[in-house]
Amino acid sequence: MILALELQPPELYKHVHELVRLSFPEYEICQEIAADADIYLRISRIKSGPQLYLHAQLQEGLRISRISCEYPLDMNGLQEDHEISRLTRVFVYRLLCQHLGKNINPYGILTGVRPLKLLHRWLDQGDSLEQILARLEQDFCLQPDVAERLAQIAGNNRPFLHSAREAKQKISIYIGIPFCSSRCYYCSFPGAILTDYTVQMKPFLNSLRQEIEVMGECINELGLKTENIYWGGGTPSILAEDDLESLFNLLAQYRLTSTVTETTVEAGRPDTLSKSKLELLKALGVNRICINPQTMQDTTLQLIGRGHSRTDIINMVQKVRDVGIPIINMDLIIGLPGEGMAEYQNTLAQILELRPENITVHSLAVKKGSRLAAAQGKKLMHELAGEVQTGIHYIGRTLQEKEYQPYYLYRQKYMKANVENIGYALPGRCCNYNIQMMEERQTIIGLGGGAGSKFVNPSDWSLTNLHSPKDPLAYTLHLPEQLARKVDKLKALN
Ligand code: SF4
Repeated sequence: MILALELQPPELYKHVHELVRLSFPEYEICQEIAADADIYLRISRIKSGPQLYLHAQLQEGLRISRISCEYPLDMNGLQEDHEISRLTRVFVYRLLCQHLGKNINPYGILTGVRPLKLLHRWLDQGDSLEQILARLEQDFCLQPDVAERLAQIAGNNRPFLHSAREAKQKISIYIGIPFCSSRCYYCSFPGAILTDYTVQMKPFLNSLRQEIEVMGECINELGLKTENIYWGGGTPSILAEDDLESLFNLLAQYRLTSTVTETTVEAGRPDTLSKSKLELLKALGVNRICINPQTMQDTTLQLIGRGHSRTDIINMVQKVRDVGIPIINMDLIIGLPGEGMAEYQNTLAQILELRPENITVHSLAVKKGSRLAAAQGKKLMHELAGEVQTGIHYIGRTLQEKEYQPYYLYRQKYMKANVENIGYALPGRCCNYNIQMMEERQTIIGLGGGAGSKFVNPSDWSLTNLHSPKDPLAYTLHLPEQLARKVDKLKALN
């Protein structure tokens, strides 16, 4: 099915296409004049002196919705550009809600991945939470409960944000190990499936060591202090014990661990962790482990190719407790195939018995490239949206009744219910790295395959992102140029 979008001027596309996509998720949006489209959406915008004129017509078969608006503009320069963008989005949002007879987005005209950054910017300017709530609801059309949730989370994670002076000094390091033992049905991420440790892992580790050495020297030269180290992937716990030990030793040799307060290792698959590996991680200073069940329903776990059972998860949590690593994070996914409210409730009850310090609740993002996207298509995603939303709200409410507080939030594209992922923590157990990474208030140096680096300039909190290839061979191949760019970017900030 095709939705033809005719825009005057064409640059309107960047302001409106996400709202249109959210409203008609099963349609292909096409900007060329299409004679055989199922829906036609025409929008025009004219600025004349201090007035902005917007007209739109949405035609779906015999149904036609039209609106026109005229807005006065009483500002200049960049401020005016922002206001024109906001007014355009509000206009299109209203048209789409009116035509479909429902709210197309609980986040109103906000369609970005990190809505909280806007709140922190307003808090930086000295706005009060009351002013912010009013603005979110009136100027950005957020549902009141969503606006309140954002304000609550911004209040919870704001104490972790650094001043500009601190942010010039403190960094985090992300280490990406892009290998998994098999590929989960819903996942598009892993760079490689590990079938031969020596053949695949050894060359990758040589490149990673080289990266640690070069970036370690640069970090020391600039006098930066590492606050958090996060091992992600893939499945970093897939590393053999001697490799883990030698990588940690190399980090220590380059003085990258001496100021660290938080070291997290993702161990998404319990089959990659043994008691002795856990003891080693504890001895190496790891104080957080992510064990990610996604669901505690054995039938679903089998269906999505996780390769473990709920009992494996329970046993692994016990081992982590026995070894004495103090903080466990567990990821849950709402919206997995074949699951509904009964399964969500049962999974949550089982997880709460294990009392992990952090729980991250994801709404299933059906990503391009995953086997689930190929099998499921866009239609089913849309149909299941309501139940996912109810499940997410139930889990959020229950977790807060059990003392967990929401402390970070992000949204994803291709998300089933157009809702969000939220991290919850017991009091005093928030993950600092997650906050710095989400709010983009600290430079993060990504090392390894698929690792993202964020270079944050504290003078205006502007950001440059760099991503390394997740395919291990491409990572090794492009390492020299990637390293040169990372060194340049980091030096340019200091
Ligand atoms: S373990 Fe994680 S990264 Fe690996 S395939 Fe499964 S979801 Fe993807």
